[in-house]
Parts: sequence; C-alpha cells; structure tokens
Amino acid sequence: MNFLHKPFLIIVLFIGISFSCNPQKDITVSTTTTTSTSTPKVISTKKVKNIILLIGDGMGLSQVSASQFYNKNKSNFERFPVIGLSKTSSASDLITDSAAGATAFASGIKTYNGALGVNTDTTAVKTIVEEISKIGISTGIISTSSIVHATPAAFYTHTKKRSMYEDIALQLVSSDIDFFAGGGVKFFNDRKDKRDLISELEKNGFSVSTESLPTNTKPIFSNKQGYLLAPNGMPKMLEGRGDFLSEATKLAIESLSSNEQGFFLMVEGSQIDWGGHDKDADYLISELIDFDKTIGVALDFAKLDGETLVIVTADHETGGFTLASDERGDYNKIKPVFSTDGHSATMVPVFADGPSSEEFGGVYENTSIYDKMKALFFENNNQ
Ligand code: MG
Ligand code: ZN
Repeated sequence: MNFLHKPFLIIVLFIGISFSCNPQKDITVSTTTTTSTSTPKVISTKKVKNIILLIGDGMGLSQVSASQFYNKNKSNFERFPVIGLSKTSSASDLITDSAAGATAFASGIKTYNGALGVNTDTTAVKTIVEEISKIGISTGIISTSSIVHATPAAFYTHTKKRSMYEDIALQLVSSDIDFFAGGGVKFFNDRKDKRDLISELEKNGFSVSTESLPTNTKPIFSNKQGYLLAPNGMPKMLEGRGDFLSEATKLAIESLSSNEQGFFLMVEGSQIDWGGHDKDADYLISELIDFDKTIGVALDFAKLDGETLVIVTADHETGGFTLASDERGDYNKIKPVFSTDGHSATMVPVFADGPSSEEFGGVYENTSIYDKMKALFFENNNQ
C-alpha cells in the first residue's frame, strides 16, 4: 500500500507547488495592467498647453506598417513612446463611417453613420472647438479633402447628413475656427443660394486665399486665416499635390502658437481612405508617406515646445488592407492586398507623445480621445 501511495503524494505536491506559483504571477501582471490603463494618472510634470490631433482617415495598422517597407525615410511613427488601440464602431453600425468616427473625436459621442456633431436623435452636441474657444484657446483644421468633408466638418458643424456640403460651408463662416486649409472652394463661391461665403469669411475677420499657401517665409498674419486651394478635394500626391499638408501644418503651428492660452489643431490625411476605397496601393501608400512626413512636423514642434501633446490616430480602417506575400508565397516579397472597397471594423492604433501622453495607452472607445483631450485642456486652464 505504501509504495502505491508514494507517486500519488509526489504528484499532489508537484501540483501544489505549481498552483502556489501561478496565482502570484497572475496577480503581478493584472495589477500592472490596472494601474497603467484603467485609472490613468498624469505622470508628466509639464502641462498640456497645445494639442495637435492628426487623423489618418482609414489608417489601420497595415497602412502604418507600409511606412516600414515603402518609406525611404525613417518613419515618424517610430518616434512615439505611447501606443493605444481605439474601438471604432458607431451607434448605428459595427463599421463606422468617417462622419460618426470624427464626431466621436470632436464631441465625445457615438452617433449614427452620416451624422456630424449631432446625437442619434439629431440634437446638436457641443464640439471641442466650441468648448475650448470659450476659454481662449485657438483652433485650426487642415485637410487634404474639401474642408466641408466629414472629418474636418465634425469639428465645426452640427448637420444631420454629411452630404449637406453647402450648409456645412455656411456653418464654417460663423464657427470658432481660427485657421483652416484644404479644398472645397466651390461650396463657398459657387452656391445654389448665390451667397459669396469668401467675402462673408473676410467680413468675419478671415484673410482668405484661394490660390496658395503664403510663399514668403514671414507672412503678415491677420487674426484668422483660411486657405481653399481646390474646387473640391485637394489633388492626390500622385497628381502633384506636393508638400501642402506638411507646409499647411507648419503655417498653422506658427500662427496658432502665438496665442499664450494654447491651441488645438486637427490635421487630416484624408486620402489614405480614398486609396483604400479605390483598392489602389500606390495611391494609399503615397498618401500615407505624406501623412508620415506631416507627423514629423508636429513632433519636431512639440519636442522644442515641451507643452504640446501630439496624438495620431484614425477614424477607422479602410480596404481591409494587408501586407501579404506574393501569389507564390514568397516571404521575401510583399504584395499589398485589399479585402473590401469599404471600411472595416478592426481597431485602429493611437500614437501619443508629449505631456500626459501616457494616458493614451490601453484599449478604449474612440470617444475616450475626446474625453482625454477635453480633460487635459480644462485641467490646464484651471491651474
Ligand atoms: Mg475624412
Ligand atoms: Zn471612407
């Protein structure tokens, strides 16, 4: 009997040891996770004075990964110390569109696809631009689409349908925006109601150009500036858009940073999404590289300034894009492929650098980006 029991005892002892080790290990891991993501604490000593939010429309992780393989320069995405993941579903659909996606960033709500700055019952919800303008912070928006397209529009309009472009343009004229640059001039000067919104913008204190960004290095700034540089969307990179996005970002930073109260700037790489819809890898990648370069402009300024938080994210992924191997399965050849000509439901990355950037680690809803930005602006203002 004795020798029969021995192996049993040894097994019990062994299991006992392994049980007593595992829970300890688990506890250590879960404690760390809880501290760093669920209850974010402001670790940085510096205040957040300015926030630059760069949105790559349709930019999932494969799009970002393309910068590793197709960008001759070192990717600016690799400069970020903090990475998070954003869940993008809207109130109406598992797969969001850009209107509901941008409204989540601008107003902190989940709404229906197609909605801009309004709730699911079409009631207007305040935008971060409206809220921070009241405490003296300057605001700007830049886009490679038309300035009345869904992503930029969500920051200044309350419109139940994203396609109401002329109505959206009218709302820009009376908005709190201090700087804007993008395409879409036809919605301002070739309208059904025959109103000339360019002169109305000028009456409201804007200096407007429909030709180009200023070419001289030291332009004389009026209080507010508007650049409408294409009839509708800006040209593609592949069709010679040049450095519009990075240059407009430099100009906006130069202008808005003169406000001692701080500024908020939204910069959109709009056509990363359009490359995905077209299932055109060259289009997508050229737009991604242009966006990457623009991120560098924001990060360089933030590094010198020390009080600027830079956030880079997307509203959703477009194209079900992936970097697969070629048809013969050669792992040394990358063939970009698309699984849809629409959007997808995958989470999108969030990159953050600067004071309080640690708050952007973790997995969270897209609306949290608004919550965090607003809290940081108001926290700073109360101190
Ligand atoms: Mg967009
Ligand atoms: Zn899209």
